Amino acid sequence: MSKIIPLTDTRRSPSPLSAPHVAPTGLLADTRGRMLRDLRVSVTDRCNFRCVYCMPKDVFGLDYPFLPHTELLTFEEITRLARLFKAHGVEKIRLTGGEPLLRRNLEDLVAMLAGIGGLDLTLTTNGSALAAKAAALKGAGLGRITVSLDSLDDEVFRAMNDVDFPVAKVLAGIEAAAQAGLAPVKINMVVKRGVNEHEILPMARRFKGSGHILRFIEYMDVGHTNGWRMDDVIPSAEVIRTIDRVFPLEPIDANYSGEVAERWRYVDGSGEIGVISSVTQAFCRDCTRARLATDGKLYTCLFATTGYDLRAMLRQGRSDADIGSYIAAIWLQRADRYSEIRSDNTVALPKIEMSYIGG
Ligand code: SAM
Ligand code: SF4
Ligand code: SF4
Repeated sequence: MSKIIPLTDTRRSPSPLSAPHVAPTGLLADTRGRMLRDLRVSVTDRCNFRCVYCMPKDVFGLDYPFLPHTELLTFEEITRLARLFKAHGVEKIRLTGGEPLLRRNLEDLVAMLAGIGGLDLTLTTNGSALAAKAAALKGAGLGRITVSLDSLDDEVFRAMNDVDFPVAKVLAGIEAAAQAGLAPVKINMVVKRGVNEHEILPMARRFKGSGHILRFIEYMDVGHTNGWRMDDVIPSAEVIRTIDRVFPLEPIDANYSGEVAERWRYVDGSGEIGVISSVTQAFCRDCTRARLATDGKLYTCLFATTGYDLRAMLRQGRSDADIGSYIAAIWLQRADRYSEIRSDNTVALPKIEMSYIGG
């Protein structure tokens, strides 16, 4: 029988009433001077894949206690919170999960968020349903999209998603997204030693000159179920060396301060790639991201263990001013910098699963 580990943190959220009175709107800097700029929203904790590094099958089995629908934030609740976050400086919202395209009528949520105006709307998906959904998402107002793809080799890909899902369908999804105008499509590849590092070059070759931006992500110790070991991490520097030997690269400037991916371009002018080095080169110093988990708890770090229950406030009928002040109080006291202090001790600490908190 598989081991059942609940997704949700059982510790109680700090009481909203204990929040010091702070302005319900206005820009916010945390204790390290980092502004609140981005919000990631996990719209479902469920997924049709069982990627070995994220939702391993032996833990996320048939008897896994995913959240019942009533515990999920509704589209109206997410939209109301999005307005409040925007009033505190959030400029960009990424819908994620779990697999966000499993949430029924997600394009309706996209349209509601687009209706707020002035937000950069993006989504991260495993691409399995993208061929069918890309045009509707674009039509609803989605700005950009990121598709996860760990290998072009069908056998390796099927083993990594662990549900025997074929790579061809994800590639079709990527093309449909580009056709629909969600370009440039970003493609995320998590690199795990001994599993798919031999796919670095084939992936680079395939997407070079395509207009899509391939990004290599260091394997992280998110959650507490993936059995992470430092030895399994391929440092981004190694990825860059591997590609540069065959297709010469040069570094380019970030698009904006605080950009997570370090950018490189092919010297021959055929496009760019990115590396996300959360393990070997922590970027906590510039981290402006908050995360709204599937059940409406707010987390200020991917590795946080305490979430703040915004859903309770919504469902208690609290005012926008109350909720806005609570959000401000949470951000003002934020001090997270997990990746800067990662060690054998922190790796062993309990953490919230990525599918619930939003990757
Ligand atoms: N299901 C969607 C997908 O796979 O794109 C969205 C959610 S997923 C949690 C978001 C991103 O997190 C994906 O690009 C995935 O590859 C990445 N991810 C998941 N587990 C990871 C890990 N242990 N280390 C690094 N990245 C990880
Ligand atoms: Fe699902 Fe995405 Fe996690 Fe893979 S990485 S198991 S597709 S949520
Ligand atoms: Fe941001 Fe936390 Fe990641 Fe550091 S460890 S970059 S604070 S999410």
